[in-house]
Amino acid sequence: MKLTFQPYNLILKHTFSIANYSRNTTPIVLVQIEHNGEIGYGEASLPQYLGETQDSVCTFLQKVDLSKFDIQTEIEEIMLSIDAIKERNTAAKAAIDIALHDLKGKITNQSVRKMLGITSTETPFTSYTIGIDKEHIIREKVKEATPYSILKIKVDRENWRKTIDIIREETDKPLFIDANQSWASKEEALENIQFLSTKNILLIEQPLEKSNIESHKWLKERSPLPIIADESVQRLSDIEKIKDAFDGINIKLMKCTGINEALKMIKRARQYGLKIMLGCMTETSCAIAAAAQLAPLADFIDLDGNLLITNDCFDGLKIKNGKIDLNNKSGIGIEKL
Ligand code: MG
Repeated sequence: MKLTFQPYNLILKHTFSIANYSRNTTPIVLVQIEHNGEIGYGEASLPQYLGETQDSVCTFLQKVDLSKFDIQTEIEEIMLSIDAIKERNTAAKAAIDIALHDLKGKITNQSVRKMLGITSTETPFTSYTIGIDKEHIIREKVKEATPYSILKIKVDRENWRKTIDIIREETDKPLFIDANQSWASKEEALENIQFLSTKNILLIEQPLEKSNIESHKWLKERSPLPIIADESVQRLSDIEKIKDAFDGINIKLMKCTGINEALKMIKRARQYGLKIMLGCMTETSCAIAAAAQLAPLADFIDLDGNLLITNDCFDGLKIKNGKIDLNNKSGIGIEKL
């Protein structure tokens, strides 16, 4: 197997703002793994807050030697070896994991979903994300989101009530609310959630600072809405320490090193009775299609990263009636444009 990679910059349709920062582009690194003329595609998406850069990903990928593995080698074994090269670098590892799954699916002529033993094609509705923005842009984005049945609303500490009022003037669709750690205390968060509980809200993502597990536990015991961990949980090993403090976890391939570990996280989280949300960064259809392979196993889907960019370099992922349309193409089911 031969690994090649190149940096690429995603251009965002709108400036994307959440509670802590804003951006107009997202750097990514595109990865290909080739075997006998068949190519598996992967991608590392690198939003600033995760700490990886195009340079760090390329440096990591230069250390990866796939020539020592056979195409028959289990992905599990390859990923264990790649994980051991250096700690962190989760997006770089995810890029390899995605390309390996895509390649293996193509070689065995089946979807990654089927390869993983997932037989259902039923998936929850996927949400469309609306970042923190000026009033007229929020209204514009709600209109852009017409094909979607659920909106995910990013909120901060200061203006969240105003944001919800604006959204509710435009639509009565159910909402996911993502506070991105911005609410200051457990009491403040509970008051906010109590207010929101009458507004057709499905869940609250990461209300408080990520390491404040005790306050999240206090909040979970009192909250009328499910509380989902995002920043508080990255990898499989994090689930144990947060399992009593949240109702569910948001799994993202870029945080957890890819499909192989995401599947383990889903199984472990289910053992603890946790809900599963599948999320993403701003990504091309490649990483979104990879995460979508796990969509039948999830309760909540937030896989819209490819819809928020203007220069997607892959095709094949479609939304039908507000849900990701899982095709039966081999691998992750996308083509390079
Ligand atoms: Mg989030």
